[in-house]
This record gives sequence, C-alpha cells and structure tokens, in this order.
Amino acid sequence: MTRELEIYIHIPFCVRKCAYCDFLSGPADQKTQEQYTDALIREIQAFPNAEQYVVCSVFIGGGTPSVLSQEAIGRILEVVRRKFHFVSEIDGDFGSVEITIECNPGTAGEEKLSYYRKIGINRLSLGLQSADNQELALLGRIHTWEAFLETYHAARRVGFTNINIDLMSGLPGQSVVSWERTLDQVLALEPEHISAYSLIIEEGTPFYTRYRKDEELRDQGEEPELLPSEEAERQMYARTEEKLLEHGMHRYEISNYAKPGFACRHNDGYWTGVWYAGFGLGASSLLNHTRYRNTEHMEEYLTAAPEQLVGYRETEALTQNDEMEEFMFLGLRRMAGVSESEFEKRFRRTIREVYGETPDSLIRHGLLARKGDRYFLTPEGMNLSNYVMSEFILTSSEQQQKHRTD
Ligand code: SF4
Repeated sequence: MTRELEIYIHIPFCVRKCAYCDFLSGPADQKTQEQYTDALIREIQAFPNAEQYVVCSVFIGGGTPSVLSQEAIGRILEVVRRKFHFVSEIDGDFGSVEITIECNPGTAGEEKLSYYRKIGINRLSLGLQSADNQELALLGRIHTWEAFLETYHAARRVGFTNINIDLMSGLPGQSVVSWERTLDQVLALEPEHISAYSLIIEEGTPFYTRYRKDEELRDQGEEPELLPSEEAERQMYARTEEKLLEHGMHRYEISNYAKPGFACRHNDGYWTGVWYAGFGLGASSLLNHTRYRNTEHMEEYLTAAPEQLVGYRETEALTQNDEMEEFMFLGLRRMAGVSESEFEKRFRRTIREVYGETPDSLIRHGLLARKGDRYFLTPEGMNLSNYVMSEFILTSSEQQQKHRTD
C-alpha cells in the first residue's frame, strides 16, 4: 500500500544574512553550491523504499533557493521525479502536485522564473516582509519594494497563478500606519496567498544584540523604545485579519491567509500529520513514527557518501505522547482545528481520556471552542496560542496519569 508523502528540499544559501535571521542559511561560493547540489542529489537517490510512497507536494525552501542556478534546481527536481511516484501520475493530472519554490526579489529574473514554470514548479513564495524601503534596509534585506515589484510582475508574465507573499510585522520603528500601508500595497497586487508573521528576536542574531533589552521591557509591560508596543502589535495583528478578510482572503492558520482554493497544500499536510521527507542540510523528516534530522555541518553533509546518510542523521522514535501532542499543537494552529474522531481513529483513545478536563476548562475561559466534532481556538485563544498549546503538553507519565484520573 502506498502512503502520501511530502517532500521538502532545503537550499541553505542566501546572498547575505538578514539581521534578524537565525535559519540555517548564509552566503556560499559557486563551488560550494555545486557540491551541495551533488550531495543533495546523492541523498535523494539514496532514499530507501521510495515505492511505498506517493508524493503529494514538493517544497523547495531555504535560505533562498533562487540563489542556485536554474540548472541546479532543474537537476534536483528531475531526480525527485525519477525517484518518486507523484500523485498526479496516478490520477492522471500532472499539474495537481503542488510544487513550490521560495524566491527572494533580486535573485530571479524573467528567464529563471520562466524556467521554473517549464520544469513544473507551480507555486512561488516571495519573501517581501515589508513594502517600506527603510524597514527593508533595517532588516538587512537585499531588495527594495521596487525590486520586489519587478520580480512579482515577471512571475505573473511567465504564468505563475499561485503566488505567496511573506510579510513581517512588529519591526523596530514600525507603526500601525506603516504596517497598514504595506498590507494595502500588497493586497493591490492580488496575490493568492499571504503569510504574515510577527518578528521574533532570535538569540545569536544582530537583532538580538540590538533589541533584546527593548523586548524585555515590553515583556515586563513597560514601553519599549524601538520595538512597537504591545498595544501597537495587537492593533497590527487585528488590522491584518480585517484587511485580508475584507479582501476576500480567508485565514486558514494562525499566520496564513489565502484566496479560496489557494491554501498551501504542503503546509496543510504538515499541520495535519502527513509524513514528510526532508533533504538537505539540517532538514528533518517524519517517517514511520520517527523523526530524522540531518547534520547541520556543511562539511559533513558535502562529504557523506549515500550509504552513510543514515550515519549523519539524528533519529528520534516518537512516542504516542509525542504524536498526540503534535496532533493537538499543529491542528490547533489551523482555523479548522482538530477533529475528535480523527484523534480517536489515530490513537485509539479519545481527547477526553488523554486530556481530561483541559479542553473544557479552556472552553470555559473562552480560549477554545467546540463545534460538532471539532475543537478550535477562539480569537482570544489565538492571541494566547502559546499558553493554550502548553496546556496540551504530555511530557511525563505522571501528567498523563493526572489527566486520566481527572
Ligand atoms: S533571505 Fe531569508 S533565509 Fe536568507 S538570511 Fe534573509 S531571512 Fe534568512
């Protein structure tokens, strides 16, 4: 029997490092990029038991995949196609597999974008973050709003009909008005999908050095100097939803909005527990109730022989508790929430047996709602999603016991 599989391919290269970014990515010379492409291809070719799966989506992410030459992307996708069966080969519609590539403005012109279309890439995810050039410069992005527009219009000209734009709010010096301007300018372009995240100040980044103190002030309920206040962030968050909904998009996950029929299938699969195979530096996979994580050391990755691939991977067998937690965390991020019957089918226990009074208590506090078979976050629950998720952690047997006897 075949099982659905999503494929993630990590391209860890960027033109230069943005000031807020802690992803596994950075600049690299041509030779490293070529060696990396070869190593990636070796890893894909060495994947065991590929015939047991049918691929429903491919996501080429990063980093900035569009930094690689178009031929390299073509080679990688070709190997994936030769190695795996795609859903569309079975249902006869080749176009039905969602194949996304992330792309940053200034790294792909019309020729490269047109090549992507030719090799079957049917979804483009553009990293914009802000329409304000001052904010972009502060973030350390390589592009301006005008450069983004060029890439966006070129993508439309070569036939992309499914485009996501990544945006980021809560930036230093950003006002609610400037965030609204970004939303208005982006919505005027009619993208099919928008991912709108809030800036997180990550340890080890230049932003951490610059803004950590400010963030601490805000966390203590005091007025920050450079970051938007808590109240301003709340307003940005609220305005995002209002504007995007007014514009005919629907929110299908805490940070993701789409026009009807354009929710990202790859992300949706991930949130609903579809197994995935990740290839590339630091990529993780979820297969057969086990999580695998590739080495984060470039040298190790580049020099490993295919038969050593397992050797440089960390492996973690997931317990049923891990899987139940993940089902709740990821499911509750989606507006559709989690299904009680799906939980029971998967784990042979009910949500109530495992979590006792927790869901009812969250409902009483207005953070969770229940409709028919499904539990989902209320708007207030979305604001406090970290707290709600923490209520579904099942770390110790005592805790599970507590829930069982509640
Ligand atoms: S382009 Fe994206 S992945 Fe690359 S450094 Fe900037 S934020 Fe990080």
